[in-house]
Order: sequence, then structure tokens, then C-alpha cells
Amino acid sequence: MTLAISRGPKVETKTVEIAILGAGMGGLGMAAKLRRAGIDSFVILEKGSDVGGTWRDNHYPGSGCDVPSHLYSFSFEPKLDWTRKFAKQPEIHDYQLHVTKKYGLRPFIRFNTEVTESRFDEASALWHITTATGETFKANLVVSALGQLNRPAYPKIDGMDNFRGEKFHSARWDHNVDLTGKNVSVIGNGASAIQFVPEIVDQVKKLNIFQRSPNWVVPKADRPYTAFEQTMFNRFPLLVKLHRWMIYLTLERNFLAFIRGSFFSKLFEKAGLKELDTYITDPKLKEILTPDYPAGCKRVLISNDWYPAIAKPNCETLTSHIAKITENAIVTEDGVSHPTDVVIYSTGFQTMDFLAPMKVIGLGGKDLNDVWRNGAEAHRGVAVSGFPNFFMLYGPNTNLGHNSIIFMLECQINYILDAVSTLQNPKVRWLDVRKVAETEFNKELQADMQRTVWAGGCSSWYKNEAGKVTNNWSSFTAKYWWQMRHLDLDEYALVG
Ligand code: NAP
Repeated sequence: MTLAISRGPKVETKTVEIAILGAGMGGLGMAAKLRRAGIDSFVILEKGSDVGGTWRDNHYPGSGCDVPSHLYSFSFEPKLDWTRKFAKQPEIHDYQLHVTKKYGLRPFIRFNTEVTESRFDEASALWHITTATGETFKANLVVSALGQLNRPAYPKIDGMDNFRGEKFHSARWDHNVDLTGKNVSVIGNGASAIQFVPEIVDQVKKLNIFQRSPNWVVPKADRPYTAFEQTMFNRFPLLVKLHRWMIYLTLERNFLAFIRGSFFSKLFEKAGLKELDTYITDPKLKEILTPDYPAGCKRVLISNDWYPAIAKPNCETLTSHIAKITENAIVTEDGVSHPTDVVIYSTGFQTMDFLAPMKVIGLGGKDLNDVWRNGAEAHRGVAVSGFPNFFMLYGPNTNLGHNSIIFMLECQINYILDAVSTLQNPKVRWLDVRKVAETEFNKELQADMQRTVWAGGCSSWYKNEAGKVTNNWSSFTAKYWWQMRHLDLDEYALVG
């Protein structure tokens, strides 16, 4: 049941003040949709000095998206002129700048404003938001658009602070460091490393890749769009819609590959092994690079130039664990010292503490960190009982291994617009998801999850130490869309 109060002409409405936290893809999408709905009573609080979130920060060489371009844009703001099938970071960031400009979002954004605490005040039914500089804001409704991949994770390695050379994380690439002719050590071999290693391998003297576990890598059907295709897309936008649908359906089908032991998962593994066979001839290297867990358990990587890069004579994949870092070398547990001028940490992100380090305090002084002690979870990935008028984009269990996260974001944005609409009723002070609804939803989700490879036997950033998958959605995105097509007020307690 939806209460579309703002849509009825005779019903009195109140202004809902909204604070959006973060100006990445989620925050920008939320703000653009609010503006399209004629709502201007919002502010975006952004930690950085520009929009873009992860696509602003991840500017390492070769950075790009492994979701096809035409599905990596909002359905309400299609980009007709993507230059290639899988866009690179500058083009995606340009798209974000375009959305910002078209919807006039800049005046709504407070840059360099890091939120440290959001606290719900029951008396006023307002969220009190505090920033790192001590500024305060008040809002009826908070939309956290912090994302899951915003805080780089660094390993804890003996002696790492003693290293005298240059060092940086791939998500904070230091373009001032000249890698030419240097001994470069890359720690990690995940989604980011496979993109920048092929870009730097010919520039450096020696490239050491410290691999903890191998990945499934399949080919990437990437190429530039031809001038003819671009002209057709520009002239007939309906074609773009059709193309988008085709991409969506193809990716949606790929979910079948993430069901444990399925025929499609075997196809993925076959494609991965074929790719390995094609490029890697050294039997020892082949053995090192062959995963011993089902495809998809960690993110399946797509690349055409990763294997050719690591097969180069100046590139070495090392599997002995790192014992320590000295002033000028990385020493592995087999006792070998690897001379190093530059260390690149490509060790992913802190994905478990979703909203950390921000403190979120709800009804009765309840701290969200305490509620999530045993692993984050939320109702439909967006709301948590006891935290009224607080919604998340790309929250717990909404990450995907097979389709576009922008599709998920749009489902969430539309759902939150229903919440805004509900709050516009002057009689409604807050809406709080019922615990029973949240529990039921998560019970079904985790039961579904057991069928998937994510629950299988490998460690990944999708799950916590106890093995609970806290990050991924457990089914087809169509199922999520169906559940999110409107906010069901029966699942919420309305207070007012
Ligand atoms: P990642 O894929 O999680 O890779 C991190 C790598 O670091 C893994 O190889 C991991 O080994 C290793 N590692 C982590 N901690 C370590 C430690 N203490 N010692 C040694 N090795 C360690 O991280 P990422 O490459 O930054 O990518 C993260 C996510 O960002 C991806 O899964 C994807 O969702 C997203 N991303 C997307 C794109 C895109 O094209 N859309 C591109 C880049 C990133 P283990 O595998 O053994 O844990």
C-alpha cells in the first residue's frame, strides 16, 4: 500500500527536509530524481571536493567499468554517445558531471563536509547531523549514499611503515610517482589490479604481483562503438533503450552462473580455463593461476589483457605469503627478498562496516554499529528497524555479481521517494520499518543465499568472518525490482 499524499491535489502537504550523504552515483541519482519530482528541500553533504564518489577516486591507469556502458547510466538520463562497450573512468566521471549540471545539483552540495554522526531526536522527529568540523544540520529524512567501496583497505604487514620508497593504494593512485624503470610490487590481484597492471607492465623494470588467491578471469567483449552505431543511437534513442534491455537480459541470465553447481557456473569455469590455456603456457604459472573454488564465489574478473600482461618476462606472480616489508624490499615467507622501489596496495576496500566511521544513533539511543555487531542487514537493503526516516542506497545485501548496480540504485531511489511522499503528510512524523518485516525479509534472503556460490567455500569481501554474506543480493535483480516497486506501508510503523 502506498500513500501518494503529494500527488493528490486537495491534500495538504508539509515540506520534507532531506539530507543526502555522499555525491557519488547514488547521491546524484537520488538528488536528480528529487528535482524531477519538484522537490528542492534537500542538501547533499559530501566528504570530498567534487562529485563522483568511487569514480572520482579510482583514477588509476586503465580504470574502467566491467558493466556495459549503456546499462551503466540512469534509465531517466540515458547517455546516447558512449564511446565504447565498457566505458573507462574518465567517461563515467564525465557522465556524473553531466547529471550534476543538467539537474542543477551543485548549489545543493556542501563539499568537504564529512558527516561523523547522525542522531535521531524523537521530540522533534529530526535527524541531527554533525560533521567533522562541528557543523550541524537538521533533516526530517536522511539518505545515506556512502556506498560499499569508499574506504581503501590496507593489509597489516610487519614493517610496512619502515618502507622508504613510494607507496599508495590503487584507489588513491599517486600520478606524481614515475614508475619508469622501477621495481614495483603490487599487493593484491583483484578487480583493480587486473585493470592497471597491463597499463604499467611495459613501463616498469620488474613487476611483482603478490597473490593470495587466484581469480576466475573471463574475456571482455569490449570495443569502441563505431561511428555508424553512435550516429544511429543519437538519431534513434529508442535503439539505445532496446540495446539497454538486451544488455540487461543477458546480464540477468548470468545470475544462473552464480547458483552453486549449475550448468551455467560450469560454463563460466570452462570459459575461464580456456582463457588461461590461451595465454599462459608455463605450467607452473598456470597452476598458480587456477582457482580452487567455484567461479563467482569471489567477483569474476573480465579482461583481455591481464593474462598477456602477467605472462611477460618482467612480471612475476608470487604466492609465498608476505612475511615483512623492509626499507627497500618485500620479504616473503620462503625467505626471498624482493627489491622494491614502489609498493602499490591493491587490497580492496573496507566493506564490512557499511556506514563507518559515521555514528548512527536511532530510537532510544540505539547505535547502528551495535545492531550490526554480527553483520549488517537491513530491510530490502534500505531501512533498519529503530532508525526511522533513515534510508540507505547500496546498503547491505544490494551488491551484485552479475548486473548493473545502477539498476539497484534506481529501485532504491524510487522506494525512498515513496517514503518522502509518505512523510509529506503533515500527520506523519516518522516511519520505522517493523522488526518482524525486516527479520522475515532477511530470513528469506539468507535462505536464498545458500543456493549461491557466494555462500560457498571461499573468502571474499562479500561476507564477514562468521561466513554471513552481508553485501550481495541473493537472486535475480528482477526479484528485487518486484519487491521494491513501492514502499509497502504495512511493513512500517507510522508515528504521528
Ligand atoms: P578486490 O577485488 O577485493 O581485490 C583485493 C585483492 O587484495 C585480492 O586479491 C585480495 O586477495 C588481496 N588482499 C586483500 N587483503 C590482503 C592482504 N592482507 N594481504 C595480501 N593480499 C590481500 O579489490 P579491488 O580490486 O579494489 O576491487 C574491489 C571491488 O571494487 C571489486 O570487487 C568490484 O566490485 C569493484 N571494482 C569494480 C570495477 C569495475 O570494473 N566496475 C573495477 C575495480 C573494482 P584475496 O582474493 O585472497 O582476498
